[in-house]
Amino acid sequence: MAERRTHSSSRRMLARLRDVMAGTGAPQERLDEIVGLIAAEMNAEVCSAYVRRAGDMLELFANIGFKDTSVHQTRLRVGEGLIGDIAAHARPLALSDAQAHPKFVFRPETGEEVFHSLMGVPILRGGRVIGVLAVQNEKTRKYREEDVETLQTVAMVLAEMVSSGELVGREEMLPADGNALLPLRMEGVRFNAGLAIGTAVLHEPRLAASQMVAEDVGDERARLHLAVNDMHGALEDMFEDEGLIDDGEHREVLETFRMIAEDAGWLKRIDETIQSGLTAEGAVIKVHNDIRSRMSQVSDPYLRERIHDFEDLAHRLLKHLSGHGGPNLEEPLPDDTVLVARNMGPAQLLDYDRTKLRGLVLEEGTVTSHVAIIARALDIPVVGHVRGILGRIEGADPVVVDGDRAQVFIRPGEDVQQAFQETLTAQRRQREAYAALRDLPAETLDGQRVSLMINAGLLADLEHGVEVGADGVGLYRTEVPFMVRSKFPDVDDQEDFYTKVYEEVGERPVVFRSLDVGGDKVLPYWDETNEENPAMGWRAIRISLDRPAMLRQQLRALIRAASGRELRVMFPMVAEVAEFKDARRLFDMEWEREEANGTTMPTALKVGVMLEVPSLAVQMPALMREIDFLSIGSNDLLQFLFASDRGNPRLSDRYDMLSPLVLNFLRTVVRQGEEAGVPVSLCGEMASRPLEAMALVGLGFRRLSVVPPAVGPVKTMIRSLSLPPLEEYLNDLCETTHRSVREQLRTFARDHGILI
Ligand code: PEP
Ligand code: MG
Repeated sequence: MAERRTHSSSRRMLARLRDVMAGTGAPQERLDEIVGLIAAEMNAEVCSAYVRRAGDMLELFANIGFKDTSVHQTRLRVGEGLIGDIAAHARPLALSDAQAHPKFVFRPETGEEVFHSLMGVPILRGGRVIGVLAVQNEKTRKYREEDVETLQTVAMVLAEMVSSGELVGREEMLPADGNALLPLRMEGVRFNAGLAIGTAVLHEPRLAASQMVAEDVGDERARLHLAVNDMHGALEDMFEDEGLIDDGEHREVLETFRMIAEDAGWLKRIDETIQSGLTAEGAVIKVHNDIRSRMSQVSDPYLRERIHDFEDLAHRLLKHLSGHGGPNLEEPLPDDTVLVARNMGPAQLLDYDRTKLRGLVLEEGTVTSHVAIIARALDIPVVGHVRGILGRIEGADPVVVDGDRAQVFIRPGEDVQQAFQETLTAQRRQREAYAALRDLPAETLDGQRVSLMINAGLLADLEHGVEVGADGVGLYRTEVPFMVRSKFPDVDDQEDFYTKVYEEVGERPVVFRSLDVGGDKVLPYWDETNEENPAMGWRAIRISLDRPAMLRQQLRALIRAASGRELRVMFPMVAEVAEFKDARRLFDMEWEREEANGTTMPTALKVGVMLEVPSLAVQMPALMREIDFLSIGSNDLLQFLFASDRGNPRLSDRYDMLSPLVLNFLRTVVRQGEEAGVPVSLCGEMASRPLEAMALVGLGFRRLSVVPPAVGPVKTMIRSLSLPPLEEYLNDLCETTHRSVREQLRTFARDHGILI
């Protein structure tokens, strides 16, 4: 009964609040009216709204009950007094004897000594404290839990007004944790070098609702009920996926997730929150805010991590409520977009207008994840592993992404922006210096020529490659044009884009890799790739051999596009010679068919394979007899060699590609190639880093395929290198069992004047 009364009074107050907020008065007038309304509805003599301002200050913005002089005069630091304490810990306080609390501070301008009891709650937006709302009573009053709940609900509605920028410019609002100050610098891991100054766009928009206050509580409860059922159904489908039947960590994680999703307490709280007058969306957000505030106090890291589960569920529930999900692509992108995401797939990055993308910041990810590779192809700086950035940044914040030093500046001051602007100018000059090398060969001081090709997937890469004077395209990822389309391209479409590739590169050679989908490379129109372990699943050549018609169509398009030119094709993720032979057989069938049809055939043909699965190395002599060239995909090869997921941030620093183990492996392969007269190149990310490229050239590689921006730096390195001492040094290093010889190689480069 009492509960029902609380709900109905809360609803009445919210409805009145909504009317005032939607009114036409000036923001200050409306806020004054709101505090009056809250005081009356909550039977309090005082109601105060504090707004957080720059410098970590909470300013009294509206009040009823204090002396008039206090408004805009009373200011408390976050952490100071009871109000500051509420802000610092992002949690409510309800005290019947406030003045006895050790944190109480008295401000004479308020005249508050006559008020004994205080109840205050944080005004939260996206998990940040942007103000404090408090009521006070003259007589000693014991506030009930329902009173706190009601005030929290009101504070949530008020958060809309505070964060809208009507009262205080958005730029003045600080991040939630009391220690962080504007501006903020955060560190991560370098995924791609370069600098960008731009405007933040959050890939997964923060939980938001277009309407907070319910029109009809019954309707909202019904909507919630339906959405919860939908969500459970969708989750069940996910769990019943047969790949998940086995026991193991996946299973456990999903079981935990299911338990949380079905947690009656969680759902009941959302339902109750609707009964207090919020829409279903508003209730989901409010309950999530409460959970986040409680869980952030928990010291157990496992439990704290569950915040993400709840967040994921809150997102799912909102999606089922509104039918909208995923990136907010409808809003126009700023011209200098810096995308900030927890993590994303490569296709999701390509959803954005790339002419407007300046940089990318990820909370997770690793340097060889496909999104990072695509970002490098787009030539934008990327900093990954920036822990907690999503809790500290808002869309539209100014950001500097410093890929070189793996740091991100959020809301930087004028001076920082100025300094980076100067660095950008200096880098432009450096690029001009690389451009001066454009027509010079990648040749060592002792006259060894290295063929420096580029990895490409987008036409933009090819333009870039031609600009920097690459010798050709060592890896053309044919899946990229598939990924950016909304349906599977037919033979004519494919022929069109392969023809464009030839037009773009002119006389230079280009190696087309057959479709490498699966893993984290998902085609938006292809839903067959839901697997528990996609990196080791049905991907690349495995799909091509199981869907021969698809591979044959691609090969047909390639043969036709290469008309009158040389055609080079290679197959990805081949695990055994037999697989290569099967693919080659399909190729020959297609070749004969086209010849018989009178197609103008390519003038020459080279068919190769990628070494990315270690098992293939066991059959190297037999393989060499079958192929025209070999290209090492070090990204996948190393993840399988070390059994270490290339996308798992926890493992990103565990093994070093500059270890004697890896160097020995590569040296053996390059020697086998020399003996068999089969050219061996390396097209993984490893080749794009000057120090790693130095080691590769020292091991005997004479063909490297790198991301376009690496052509200048790698060429500079090669032209400053004298091979004989390096070869000798590498022979010694290969004998050791160090985990890494990175430092030794760096010292060697420095001592020998090699420009890395
Ligand atoms: C590799 O694995 O090294 C490679 C070049 O292929 P991708 O990165 O496209 O998987
Ligand atoms: Mg690969």
